[in-house]
Amino acid sequence: MTARPPLVLRLGKPLGDAIAAGHPWIFDRALPLPPQKLAPGTLAHVEDERGFVAQVFLDPGSPIRARVVERDRKRPLDDDWAHARARDAALRRSRDPLLVGCDAIRALHGEADACPGLVVDVYAGVAVVVFDGTAASAFWTPRLPAVLAGLRDGGLDFDRTWVKGDRRAAAPYAIGSAPPPLVEIHEDEARFAVDVVGGQKTGFFLDQRDNRRTIAAHAAGASVLNLFCYTGGFSLKAGLGGASSVTSVDSAPRAIESLSDNLRRTGLDPASHEPICADAFAFLTEARARGRRWDLVIADPPSFAPSERTKASALRGYGRLVEACLAVVEPAGRFALASCSSHVTEADLLGVLASASAAAGADLRVRVSAGAASDHPIVPGFPEGRYLKFLLCDV
Ligand code: SAH
Repeated sequence: MTARPPLVLRLGKPLGDAIAAGHPWIFDRALPLPPQKLAPGTLAHVEDERGFVAQVFLDPGSPIRARVVERDRKRPLDDDWAHARARDAALRRSRDPLLVGCDAIRALHGEADACPGLVVDVYAGVAVVVFDGTAASAFWTPRLPAVLAGLRDGGLDFDRTWVKGDRRAAAPYAIGSAPPPLVEIHEDEARFAVDVVGGQKTGFFLDQRDNRRTIAAHAAGASVLNLFCYTGGFSLKAGLGGASSVTSVDSAPRAIESLSDNLRRTGLDPASHEPICADAFAFLTEARARGRRWDLVIADPPSFAPSERTKASALRGYGRLVEACLAVVEPAGRFALASCSSHVTEADLLGVLASASAAAGADLRVRVSAGAASDHPIVPGFPEGRYLKFLLCDV
């Protein structure tokens, strides 16, 4: 591992204070590069007119040109360093009362755990590793054995590791034996079979855990519609919370099959669950035409805004979705909306709810405003890390 950074770069914008306050990203406009070709993951020291600011790894081809890994100039980025970062993250989880009763947790949440570009989820003895881009992959891959050892020393138990890679280039691989086809996890009373190899993201949306608990608490006696249900996270929690019936909609046949399997594993009566493989918008149009309504409607769509440029069209998409949902909520019912687009802020979503409710002649009150689960922490100096928003409203 490189003991001495090959490169010193001068910030083109006054970002020293933001970086000192925990902001881990330096965008391309703020960091001019020298003419030579630099490989993704190259280490550098960044300085401003006052001197040293941070150690970073570079991603020359990406808008996020550098990620801050260390603010101490002297600290070598060696195995001890990586081990300590991972162990601290695991220890923070071991002290978190909201994770009691769950054997599937986000062990390392990238930037927020001072490990930029690295995510590790642990599912009942199987760790799943994802890198955010090729630079993160280049930086973290040599340090991965130390990271995994640190997680174990911090109290996390896993004997297999599946490296999903960086979603763009590298092929996935196992460290130790390959993960089983399905890993059964426990989240409170719910059981989910997680497909860590073929499922979305690392296999399951751990970030909605606390919001699933909120839904469970609001579901007693309610008829529930769960749109974009994936493997049934909100559906199972609504059922366990005493929902009178749960209708779940997803356009992916495998998600719907998995939901039915998860109902069985959790011991919920399939008779009160209606899984539907359909496009959510088409389903809502038809439900409205037939006059179907539900006491509690949940919409957790995939990201509509992959970039800042697509934000305006994403907001229109949310607007159409909210209007269609409000049309099928029973009088005095509830509506929950989630957005996982980091470009869409909570203020944006409130704006969408305001316009859509005015158009629908509905009166909304937000009762719960939340984000991602507690194992997905946020650094105060890095508000961009607050990608997930969850709003539960009275209608
Ligand atoms: N709420 C889920 C996560 C949702 S992920 C949970 O808590 O686990 C988004 C889901 O939306 C995916 O399962 C995807 O298959 C589904 N999806 C995407 N576009 C859709 C559409 N137009 N209609 C219905 N489902 C859709």
